[in-house]
Amino acid sequence: MKSIAVIGSGTMGNGIAHVFAQCGYQVALVDIQASQLEKAIASISKNMDRQVAKGTLSEGEKEKALNRIQTFTQLEEGVKSADLVVEAATENEKLKLEIFKQLDQFVPASAILATNTSSISITKIAAVTQRPSQVIGMHFMNPVPVMKLVEVIRGYSTSDEVTEIIMELSKNLGKVPVEVNDYPGFVANRILIPMINEAVYSLYEGVAGVEEIDTVMKLGMAHPMGPLQLADFIGLDVCLSILRVLQDGFGNPKYAPCPLLINMVEAGFKGVKTGQGFYKYTAGSKDLVVASRFSKK
Ligand code: NAD
Repeated sequence: MKSIAVIGSGTMGNGIAHVFAQCGYQVALVDIQASQLEKAIASISKNMDRQVAKGTLSEGEKEKALNRIQTFTQLEEGVKSADLVVEAATENEKLKLEIFKQLDQFVPASAILATNTSSISITKIAAVTQRPSQVIGMHFMNPVPVMKLVEVIRGYSTSDEVTEIIMELSKNLGKVPVEVNDYPGFVANRILIPMINEAVYSLYEGVAGVEEIDTVMKLGMAHPMGPLQLADFIGLDVCLSILRVLQDGFGNPKYAPCPLLINMVEAGFKGVKTGQGFYKYTAGSKDLVVASRFSKK
């Protein structure tokens, strides 16, 4: 496997392109927005500079890795000679089904089609292609160059051979792959997102305040970050949409999103990306300030 196409050059797409290029693969990075592609290359370069400063990458290796990445705004052009496609476009089922239908037409018949989706069914995505045995989930964690885990998700029809190839490939990227089956939320988000929802319920019911909840989980459970701060980082809208997937997929009321989470998303308080969630985020500041509505009077 030499040639990789990455679809979507946002937060995850640029990290995935970074890791493949650094490991010697030719990368075609595809996005419908040329401005996103420019931003992605700038982010990759900046993130590689950090590695250079730490001494984990040389200037020469950085240069070579960046030269391995080509950018495209036309899907067909970017994917026509790919051995593997990793799709990391916006988390929207309709969009992903459309992209996979097109990939199936444009990508060589022998190629593997992977998706980095956080929650959409791999089986459903595979079913819109003529090669469901070659469709698989390759769920990287954010930030991709730093986080070791790749959740490798087998759809209903994914073959043993394709699973083995993706497990090996993930190891070649310096990651630790874990094989899981395709059920709502897979493993990572099935466990993480209900925990975050429970933290929001604890706040909503007045069990404790934002800092208290996060401190209990940080110091008591050795989590590096409390669940409410983590929710702000993931995006409260993203947490809500994953809860909806769990609720729809299992039909179990235990996944019902907390009304406070719904209200915050509807009001536009989505966490770091909007400058406020449970905490307030001001550019350049590393201090965590609890958002005023949750501050103790
Ligand atoms: P993002 O919004 O940062 O980036 C999405 C990119 O996809 C944008 O640049 C957009 O222009 C592009 N795009 C939209 N439609 C496209 C199309 N038809 N063709 C090509 N590009 C298109 O999103 P993200 O956070 O990078 O998430 C991408 C995927 O990764 C989602 O499926 C998400 O669930 C998953 N994921 C995200 C995280 C995370 O922490 N952000 C973690 C794991 C998995």
